[in-house]
Amino acid sequence: VAENVPREIEQVFRSQHPAVPIPDITLPEFVFKDAELYSDKVAFVDAVTGKYYTYGDVIRNTRRFSTALRSLGLRKGSVVIVVLPNVAEYGIIALGIMASGGVFSGANPALHASEIRKQVEASDAKLIVTNKSNYEKVKDLRLPIIILGEDPIEGTIHWDGLLEAGDRVRLHSISEEVNQEDLCALPFSSGTTGISKGVMLTHKNLVANLCSTLSNVPPEAIGKVTTLGLIPFFHIYGITGICCATLRNKGKVVVINRFELRMFLNVLITHEVTFAPIVPPIILALVKNPIVDEFDLRKLKLEAIMTAAAPLAPEILSAFEKKFPGIHVQEAYGLTEHSCITLSYGGGRGTAKKNSVGMVLPNLELKFIDPDTGRPLPRNTPGELCVRSKCVMKGYYKNEEETLRTIDKDGWLHTGDIGYIDDDGDVFIVDRIKELIKYKGFQVAPAELEATLLAHSSVDDAAVVPLQDEEAGEIPAAWVVLKPGAKETEGDIMEYVAANVAGYKKVRAVRFVDEIPKSPSGKILRRLIRDEIQKAKRG
Ligand code: AMP
Repeated sequence: VAENVPREIEQVFRSQHPAVPIPDITLPEFVFKDAELYSDKVAFVDAVTGKYYTYGDVIRNTRRFSTALRSLGLRKGSVVIVVLPNVAEYGIIALGIMASGGVFSGANPALHASEIRKQVEASDAKLIVTNKSNYEKVKDLRLPIIILGEDPIEGTIHWDGLLEAGDRVRLHSISEEVNQEDLCALPFSSGTTGISKGVMLTHKNLVANLCSTLSNVPPEAIGKVTTLGLIPFFHIYGITGICCATLRNKGKVVVINRFELRMFLNVLITHEVTFAPIVPPIILALVKNPIVDEFDLRKLKLEAIMTAAAPLAPEILSAFEKKFPGIHVQEAYGLTEHSCITLSYGGGRGTAKKNSVGMVLPNLELKFIDPDTGRPLPRNTPGELCVRSKCVMKGYYKNEEETLRTIDKDGWLHTGDIGYIDDDGDVFIVDRIKELIKYKGFQVAPAELEATLLAHSSVDDAAVVPLQDEEAGEIPAAWVVLKPGAKETEGDIMEYVAANVAGYKKVRAVRFVDEIPKSPSGKILRRLIRDEIQKAKRG
């Protein structure tokens, strides 16, 4: 390498594949390209109820819903919170919001009312879409509520009636132009530190993401793939990676709203699912749970699974390949701040190395930096993964400080994950330096649990860290300093947290300590606590 080439340039890694063009259209326009040609084909089917929507239905209902939203007064840039499990209508709802110029913000229906309120307030939401079973949690929010399902609820707007109204409104009279630079989604993520924040994603971010991730789909696969819609659609992986990607490729999404192993296997078989994006805990269940032996696995039409959201242990991957020979395992890595999938196998060689999360996708740039000095590192040297592309979020909503901490002046998104790229271009993720805990692939922000703990009258100080767990990947564990004279037990503290947060965020281990180790500037020394807890667990 010539002496005068800046080191920075040498150590930026790009795709081995040519750049792919990004059309200048909105996300709904992108996913509905050529959809009219497939109007009789099923796009979404609810695996349990059998309710389905063809491409013709999806296009028509998306248009009706977006028109009706405008007639309700929804303006460009207004946030709509969707509190729903995976349902067959979910894609229509999200795309309808986006087509109207609104911003789709999915909320986990497992959240408590107080947690949904926080998302509503943090996003300045103007409207809620939910169903009867989640109505109680949102009814006091003083926002218009659209209810999905059979029975109308007084004081709310019923979905069916709204769609009918959408037929009567004349779109051109109320339309404001929506373009690619406009926001279309506001998922929530805690990023590298602190509590959950709104991640501002534009139509361009998501179209660019789909262009990169779908660049290696062969033309003969169009219209042929049946995808499992189990990953929550409120998460960007679910809405972009499953709903939008499948619509773009004119496949079918088989929607299920929860994981239960027998139902899962039944659905795979009866609906002839060919592609199942899942998370590592499900792969663990497929490998270890004896229920699987009740099924004749030869009936599976599954060609590939995709695993992302958390690391997959090498021994689980090997066990899966042994038990399900012929089913291709595609690993992927992504984060909300990068619009969903960031690394996956990228065509060409066809498949990434075992335990690699993939190769650099077309249009993306990657570098790995020393987390202490910020210096870019060469191949085969673990460092913080940074990515630069058109998929990088616009920033955190109303949080410039965190935005500047996460996206540097040169446009690099700092992921808080540690990894390296090898000589062949395969990327491996080996650690995480950000605070985030991933319980079964779900985000749990330690700062939020620490605030909950500190609100307890007997707690003086607290720190929450991830603890490795075979089934969940990680579980939240707390170190707690009790106030003098406090009588609570570890169990009392766990119960208290459980009563105040969604089930997946529960603290599952508590240890009472005299003090929380902190740096001179007052930062919790999380790594030290993690190591201590792990040591205590071992012995
Ligand atoms: P989310 O924004 O909820 O998608 O979470 C993104 C984070 O999940 C990443 O920053 C990683 O810490 C973790 N993650 C996602 N995919 C993987 C993977 N394949 N292996 C290891 N960690 C992953």
